[in-house]
Amino acid sequence: MAKREFQTEIKQLLDLMIHSLYSNKEIFLRELISNASDALDKLKYLTLTDDKFKELKFEPRIDIKIDNENKTITISDTGIGMDEEDLVENLGTIAKSGTKAFLQKAQENEKIDNNLIGQFGVGFYSAFMVAKKVEVLTKKAGSDKAYLWESDGSGEYEIKEATKDDYGTTITLYIREDSEEFLDEMRIENIIKKYSNHIPYPIYMEKTKYTEDGKTQKEIVKVNEATALWTKNKKDLTDEDYIAFYETIAHSNEKPLAWIHTKAEGAIEYTTLFYIPSKAPFDLYRVDYQSGVKLYIKRVFITDDDKELLPTYLRFIRGIIDSEDLPLNVSREILQHNPILAKIKKASIKNIFKMISKLDDEKYKTFWNEFGKVLKEGLADFEYQEKVLELCRFDTNKRDFISLEDYIKDNEGKEIYYLIGKDKELLKNSPLLENEDKEVLLLSDDIDELAFPMVTKYKDYEFKSLNKEEVKDLSDEYKDLIAKIKVTLGDEVKEVKVTDRLKESPVVLVFDEEFNPQMEMMFKQMGMEAPKVKPILELNPNNEIIKKLKEKYDDTIVKVLFDEAKLALGMEISNPKELVSRLNELILKAF
Ligand code: ADP
Repeated sequence: MAKREFQTEIKQLLDLMIHSLYSNKEIFLRELISNASDALDKLKYLTLTDDKFKELKFEPRIDIKIDNENKTITISDTGIGMDEEDLVENLGTIAKSGTKAFLQKAQENEKIDNNLIGQFGVGFYSAFMVAKKVEVLTKKAGSDKAYLWESDGSGEYEIKEATKDDYGTTITLYIREDSEEFLDEMRIENIIKKYSNHIPYPIYMEKTKYTEDGKTQKEIVKVNEATALWTKNKKDLTDEDYIAFYETIAHSNEKPLAWIHTKAEGAIEYTTLFYIPSKAPFDLYRVDYQSGVKLYIKRVFITDDDKELLPTYLRFIRGIIDSEDLPLNVSREILQHNPILAKIKKASIKNIFKMISKLDDEKYKTFWNEFGKVLKEGLADFEYQEKVLELCRFDTNKRDFISLEDYIKDNEGKEIYYLIGKDKELLKNSPLLENEDKEVLLLSDDIDELAFPMVTKYKDYEFKSLNKEEVKDLSDEYKDLIAKIKVTLGDEVKEVKVTDRLKESPVVLVFDEEFNPQMEMMFKQMGMEAPKVKPILELNPNNEIIKKLKEKYDDTIVKVLFDEAKLALGMEISNPKELVSRLNELILKAF
C-alpha cells in the first residue's frame, strides 16, 4: 500500500520529538500505557452496554516486552483496537487542538519540558523520542481485519493489511542508539511503577529469571497494582499513592497542591477524588480547553470530555467522579439533566471549596496566582457568589493578599470599598485614594471589570465603588471657572465639577456610568468599536494650580491637566503630539 503523508502539524511535532532534547524521555511509556488503558476502557464500556459486544471475551491486560537482540520494546493491549480509518485519523491526520499551542511553546524553549507532552495530548508521538521506527499492529474489536501502521517519523507513514489473532493493539518501538538505556528490564519496571501503578488494568512484563543452575528463563510478572486508586480506603493510601495517581491522570510531573477524596454512602452512592494542580494548564483560557475530570459509573470509564461535571470556573480541577447509581448506557443529553449527577455536582463543588479553604498560606498564594482569575469568574454564579467571594484574595491600599473576612475584622462600618482599574500600581497612586483613610480593595484583573459590578453584597456588608462615592459638591462657588473649562474641553467631558475629593492632585477623572475606561480597553482588544466614554472632570479647589487658574485662566494649562488626569488612570491620550507641544510652550514660559 502506498505511503501517506502526515498532516503538517504532525510533521512538525514529529520533527520536534526526534530532534529536541528532552528533560525526561521516560514518559513515552506513561503515554503509551495511558493510551492502552483508554483503549481497554472503551472496549469494557462496549461489552457492558452494546449487544454486539456482549458476547465478546474481555480479558483486559497490557503486556510489555523487551527484546534485547532486536533492540525493541513492545506494548500490547487487548483493548478496542483500530481499523484502517481510525489509524489514518488518529495516527496521521487529526492533530489535537492543543498541537499548535504545543508547537509554539516548544519552539520557544530549546529543551522541552516533558510536562508539556502529556498536557498537550500528543502522547502517541512521544514514542519517537526514543524510537527510530514505530510499528502499530492492530485489530478492531468486532472486525476480522488487522492492519500494520509503520513510520520512521520522517514525514510519511504506511498502512498495510496484516494478520493478528486477537483484537487490540501491539506497538513496537525500535529503540534509537541514544536511548538504549530503556532496553533495561529494571528501568522499565521502575517507570511502570512510577507512572502507571494505578492504571486499573494489570500490566505484565516479561522478565528474565536466573535459575539455580545459572541459566536464564523468561517469566511473565504483573508489575502494577491494577486497582482503581479511588476505590481504596483513605486510610490504606499514602500521600505518595495520591501523588502518583495524580501524575497518571493529569499527565503531569508537578506535585498537586492538595486533594480531597470522598465517599458518599447514603441515598446516592459515589466516590470523588479531586486535585488542585500547582500549575495552570496551557489551555486554561482557551475555549476548547480539555476538561480535567473523568466520569466513571461503577468503575467503568464513561467520559473525560464532559465540561458540565463542574462549573467552568473550576475547570482547573483534576480528578474523577465515580457513581454507583447512574445507568451505564447513559447518553450525554441525559447526563446533563440527570438529578443524580446534579446532586453529585453540588456536593463536589462544596468539597472543592473546602479543599481550597484549607490550603496553607504558601499554597494559597500559589493557588491564587495560578487560578484566582478563573475562580473569580464564579462571581457571576449567584448560587455560589458568597462562597467564591470568601475564597477571593485582595490587595488593598494598605496591605496585600487579604480575604474579605480580614477586611471585615479590621475595618469598621458595613461597607467594603473597592476601586477598579487596569493596573495595580496606577490604582495605588490613584488621586481618588489621596484623601482616603479607609481600606480600599484594589481590583486590577481584567475579569474584575466584569465580575465586580455584579457583586453588591458580602454577607450583610455592602460593596461600594470608590468611584461612585458621594463627595461634597462645591461647584456653585466656581461657576465662572467651570464655564471656561467647559468651553476649552468641549464634548470631551461630560461634566466639570469642583469637589472635596482630592487632597493633593489638581484634577481627577471619574465615571458615573457603568461603562468605564477599562471596559473601553477590552472592547478595543477584541477589535470592537467601544462606546465613547465621557468622564467627569473634578477639580481640587485647594490645589495651587487651580487657585491660580481661577485668578488667571489659561487654555493650554487646562488641556495639559486633562491629559495628565487621563494618564493617571492609564488611559490613552488622544493626541500625544499636542500634549508635547503644549508642555514645550509651558517650559518656554517658565524660562
Ligand atoms: P490522546 O491519547 O491524547 O488522544 P494520542 O496522540 O496519544 O492522543 O493518541 C491519538 C489517538 O490514537 C487516541 O485518541 C486513540 O484514538 C488512538 N490510539 C492510540 N493508542 C491506541 C491504542 N493502544 N489502542 C487504540 N487506539 C489508540
